[in-house]
Amino acid sequence: MIFKKVVTIIAVILAFFILLILLASIIFRFISYLTRPSNLKKAFNYGSELAKSSGKTFWVVVAHPDDAEWYAGGTIASLALKNRVILVMCTSGEKGSNDDSLGAKREKLQLEAGKIVGYHRIEFLRFPDRELQEHKQDLFKYLKRLAVYEPPAAIFTFDFKKPHYIYRHPDHLAAGEVAMKAGEELGVPLYLFHTSKPNVIFDYEKVRHKKKEALKALTNYGGRRRRGALSVLRSVFSFLGRNQIEMYGYKEGFLQLGIEFGETFRLERPVKENDLIFID
Ligand SMILES: [Zn+2]
Repeated sequence: MIFKKVVTIIAVILAFFILLILLASIIFRFISYLTRPSNLKKAFNYGSELAKSSGKTFWVVVAHPDDAEWYAGGTIASLALKNRVILVMCTSGEKGSNDDSLGAKREKLQLEAGKIVGYHRIEFLRFPDRELQEHKQDLFKYLKRLAVYEPPAAIFTFDFKKPHYIYRHPDHLAAGEVAMKAGEELGVPLYLFHTSKPNVIFDYEKVRHKKKEALKALTNYGGRRRRGALSVLRSVFSFLGRNQIEMYGYKEGFLQLGIEFGETFRLERPVKENDLIFID
């Protein structure tokens, strides 16, 4: 009798988990479909155009160590081969653990991962983690100064205006908001990642090992981290999707173009000074 009860309970729990995974994968595919570029060919052409860049300076403005590699590591590693890439790290991601040295550890790992990706310079601004919203003015001032001696040809950052439907971290939005404002003032193109309206697909197949190695290096900080609901969700998505395409792109669309490893962006570029339009 007891045995029968135990078997029933195990069967119910198993069925629950299978249903949960099924539901998550349906939601995941739906979001993936919603965030596909509306014109695949055009998006591919914009990506190929970007891939031809050489001798330019690119800024990558992010909130935490691993943000850049996670969302755009393949694209950045490709561009860093022929261009100067500067990573602006707004916070050191020191919160989320009882370890007081987490920030310093994550900076060290970011430097290691940075060598793999190929950044030419990494700026640690050390604004407090999870409080970047309160330091937007200081960040803006910093970027204006940086523009004097490292003027960018384009800026990579989080999409503040049309952010992705999941995981809208306030620090990510703050970094994106300020970097977008700086880019608009400088009149340079913006390549916005973690977006809900991508119009660029960048094929990073040739450097895909670099992205993988960099991400591996970045998660190597030991110790226990508190796992919030969002990071669990992230893990579920990682489990369901084999790579970045499935997580933040539209896999069927990419494969249609023959791209197995791609990252997506929303490109905003100036038509004339201080006048940016959304290119569809
Ligand atoms: Zn982050």
